[in-house]
Amino acid sequence: MLDSRWFKAAGVAVALTLASATAAHAAPAPDPAVKSAAAVVTLRYDDSRAGGWEAAIAAGVASWNGHVGNVKLVEAAPGTRAEIQIVATTGWPQATLGPVRPGGLARVELGSQAVAQGHDKTRIAAHELGHSLGLPDTKPGPCSQLMSGSSAGTSCTNAVPNAAERARVESAYAGGLVSRVPADGRVLVDAP
Ligand SMILES: [Zn+2]
Repeated sequence: MLDSRWFKAAGVAVALTLASATAAHAAPAPDPAVKSAAAVVTLRYDDSRAGGWEAAIAAGVASWNGHVGNVKLVEAAPGTRAEIQIVATTGWPQATLGPVRPGGLARVELGSQAVAQGHDKTRIAAHELGHSLGLPDTKPGPCSQLMSGSSAGTSCTNAVPNAAERARVESAYAGGLVSRVPADGRVLVDAP
């Protein structure tokens, strides 16, 4: 309880900071043809409660960071606020449907039930992070789709978003911080 209040209060503080930073740097009109580093949305994740999933999370994060340019996932420094809270559970994987914004809050649960059934941990982590970035499930679907999740079968270890999935995330985070699309906020459970 205290935890979630703290996060909410911190979220307001971050939002205010970002708002004033934006105002302070609002001076010259940017050339739309040049993508500045400032246009990249940075989202922090906290996996300090996702013991046993560290390697899968690192690989899933690397997959996203290597395939989209408008949003970047970085590990939050210990004790600092993160937009994406990743925890290990004994249930089925699930995640809040984004696209989560800076100052927002999304939760990813990496559930061991799916691993017990034989599903690939890196694909699971990348899939759930895909929900945080605003992608819904596309089940049933082929292994080439990250968001087809468990429907592609346990032999599928693909953790790379396909062109359509990348394009949708790029669109959700286009133009820096702001998007007209609010985070969905539903919790998607990836049980079979
Ligand atoms: Zn899913």
